[in-house]
Amino acid sequence: MPESNTSTIDNLSHETRSFAPSAEFVAHAIAKPEQYEAATADRLGYWADQARKNLTWDADFTETLDWSEAPVAKWFVGGKVNAAYNALDRHVEAGLGDRVAIHFEGEPGDTRSYTYAQLTEAVKQAANAFESLGVAKGDRVAVYLPMIPEAVITMLACARIGAIHSVVFGGFSADALRSRIDDGEAKLVVTADGTFRRGKPSALKPAVDEALSTPGHTVENVLVVKRNGEDVNWTSLDKWWHEAVETASTEHTAVGHDSEHPLFVLYTSGTTGKPKGIIHTTGGYLTQASATHRDTFDLHPESDVFWCTADVGWVTGHSYVAYAPLINGATQIMYEGTPDSPHQGRWWEIVEKYGVTILYTAPTAIRTFMKWGRSIPDSYDLSSLRVLGSVGESINPEAWMWYRDVIGTNNGKNGERKEHPAPIVDTWWQTETGAHMIAPLPGVTATKPGSAQTPVPGITVDVVDEMGVSVANGEGGFLVIRDPWPGMLRGIWGDMDRYKDTYWSRFEGMYFAGDGAKRDEDGDIWLLGRVDDVMNVSGHRLSTTEIESSLVAHPYVAEAAVVGAKDETTGEAVVAFVILQIEPPEGEDVVATLRAHVGKDIGPIAKPRHILVVPELPKTRSGKIMRRLLKDVAEGREVGDATTLADNTVMTQIAESMRK
Ligand code: ATP
Ligand code: MG
Repeated sequence: MPESNTSTIDNLSHETRSFAPSAEFVAHAIAKPEQYEAATADRLGYWADQARKNLTWDADFTETLDWSEAPVAKWFVGGKVNAAYNALDRHVEAGLGDRVAIHFEGEPGDTRSYTYAQLTEAVKQAANAFESLGVAKGDRVAVYLPMIPEAVITMLACARIGAIHSVVFGGFSADALRSRIDDGEAKLVVTADGTFRRGKPSALKPAVDEALSTPGHTVENVLVVKRNGEDVNWTSLDKWWHEAVETASTEHTAVGHDSEHPLFVLYTSGTTGKPKGIIHTTGGYLTQASATHRDTFDLHPESDVFWCTADVGWVTGHSYVAYAPLINGATQIMYEGTPDSPHQGRWWEIVEKYGVTILYTAPTAIRTFMKWGRSIPDSYDLSSLRVLGSVGESINPEAWMWYRDVIGTNNGKNGERKEHPAPIVDTWWQTETGAHMIAPLPGVTATKPGSAQTPVPGITVDVVDEMGVSVANGEGGFLVIRDPWPGMLRGIWGDMDRYKDTYWSRFEGMYFAGDGAKRDEDGDIWLLGRVDDVMNVSGHRLSTTEIESSLVAHPYVAEAAVVGAKDETTGEAVVAFVILQIEPPEGEDVVATLRAHVGKDIGPIAKPRHILVVPELPKTRSGKIMRRLLKDVAEGREVGDATTLADNTVMTQIAESMRK
C-alpha cells in the first residue's frame, strides 16, 4: 500500500473466486461475446442497430448521435417513436395478444393477469381519459400509486400521448409529493385510495389531499384508483379511475413522438443530498433499457418469467418494470407488498407459484433474507430461477455467495441442489444513466462475487485518478463515463446549471458518476461507494464498501455501514455501525472481535476506531444506506436532510446507542 496517495483509492480486498457460465447456459445465451467487439469497433453503429432492432420507428432517424451541444446529447435524431406502441400494440399486431404481460400479485393475495391485448386496451382507455381531462403532449402528470398495474398503465398512457410522467414513490410524504408536483408543474395527479401493508389497509389519498391543501399548485384533476376500498375524503379535483378510465373508449391511435421528446422526470433517491429531477427522453432511453434487459438477463421472452422487485417509484421500476420488459414482449410479475407479509417466505412462494425464471432485486433484500435464515427459501421450489440480478448498492461478496448458494442452487424443496447454479449479474447504473452501464453478460462473463465487472457493450466506462488519467489494474479512483450513451439523462428539470456542475465539471469531457471504483488485476470493475464517503486515514484512501463487506463476512454481522469521522491525528477515523445477526456468546467482546477480524481480513489500517452495535441502519425508501446521516452522528453534528429516509425513528435510536 502506498504511504500517502490522495489520487486513488487503496486496493484492499482480495477476491479471487470466479464462476464461468455452464456450457448449457452458453449454448442458449442471447448475448454473444462478439457484441463487445462489434460495439467497440463501431459504437454508434452498434447503437443504431440496437435502436432499429429493438424498436419500431414511425420515422427512421437520420443521425445516430448529435453531441454538438454537449453535455446535452441528442440520440437517433429525426426519428419518431411511440413508447406505448412499442410496449404494447405492436406485440398484439404480431399475434402475441394472448401472452401474459403482467401477473399482478396483490399484498392480500388477490391476483390479476393482463395479457398484452388487455394491457393495450387498458392503456388506450387511460390515454383517452387523460386527454379528456385536458392532458396534452408535454404536460406533466404526477403519479403517486402503489405497486399495482394502474401504475404501469398510467406511465404508458402518458408516454402514448406524449405527456411527461413524474412518479413519486408512494411511501413519500405529502411534502415530498408537493415539492415534486410544484417542481414539474403537474396538471394531473394519479393516485389511489391506498394500498395494503402487512395485512392492513394503508392510506395514500390523505397525503395527496394534504399536498394540495395549500393553494398555488398547478393540479387540475386527481384520478383515484380504488384499491383498498377504505373511505376517502373527496375534493372538487377528484375523479374515480373506474368512472373516468374504465368507461373510456378502447380505441386510441398512437402517434410517433420525436426521439428526443421527454418521456419522464424522476428524482434521485437522495443518498447524497437534495434529490435531482432527472430528465429522460424517448428513443435513446428505450433502446438502452431494452437492449440491456435482453442481454444482461439473457431474456427469452417466449419462455421467461421476469420479476423485478423494485417499486415503480425508482428508476429500476421505470426501466425494468414499466418499459423494457414490455418493449421486449416479456411476461413479468408485479407484487404489491413487502417480503415479510403474511410470512417471510412470501417472495419464494411467488417465485414457486409463477415459475419465475429471472429475479432482479437489491442487496438490502438479500441481506435481510440472510438474516431470516436459509431454511425459509429452502422450503420452496425455486428450481425455475436461472438468472439472478442485483442493483442499488455494491453487493458484498458474502451476500453474493449466499444468493448463489441458497437461491441460485435451489432445485426444489428439501434442499435439493442444482449442478449449475443460476448466474448472478450485479448491475451498476444510476437514475441518471437510465439503464445498465456495468454488468456481466451471464452467458459470456465468468462472474465474480461482489464485482459489477465490465461495461455493457457500447458503453465506455473508465476509472481515473484526480487528474482524469486512467488508473492501472489493481488501483482505485473515480468512476467516469467517457462517451455519451443512449440512455443518458438530458438534464436536471429546471436546473441545467446544476446538471453541468454535478456531472460535467469534475473531469474535462467526462461524465462523473460520483462513485469510487477500482480495477482489479483482471481489469474488472468494483464499486467502492460514493467518493464523498471515501475515508482518508493517515494518508490511505479507504473505501466504505470494502470495510463493510469485511464486517458482513463475519458470522456475527448481518449488516454494516462504515463512515469516516474527523480525527485529529489520523485525518479521519473509521467508524462502523453494525446490526448483529446472532446473539454473541456470553462474555464475548463483540467490538474487539470485529476490529480484530477487519484487521486480519484487510489490514490494520482498516480497523474501525469505533464500532457501534445498532438495531437498524438509516436507509432511503429504496433500501440504500444513508451514510451521510451516520457521518453527521459520528462527528457529533446535527443530522442533515433526512426527508427521503424510510424510518424516521432510526436516527433517534442510533443517537441513543451513541450516547451509551
Ligand atoms: P442521490 O443521487 O440523490 O444521492 P442515489 O445516487 O442513491 O441518490 P440512484 O440513482 O437511485 O440514487 O442510485 C444510483 C447509485 O446507486 C449509484 O451512483 C451507486 O452509488 C449506487 N449503485 C447502484 N447500483 C450499484 C451497484 N450494482 N453496485 C454499486 N453501487 C451501485
Ligand atoms: Mg446519485
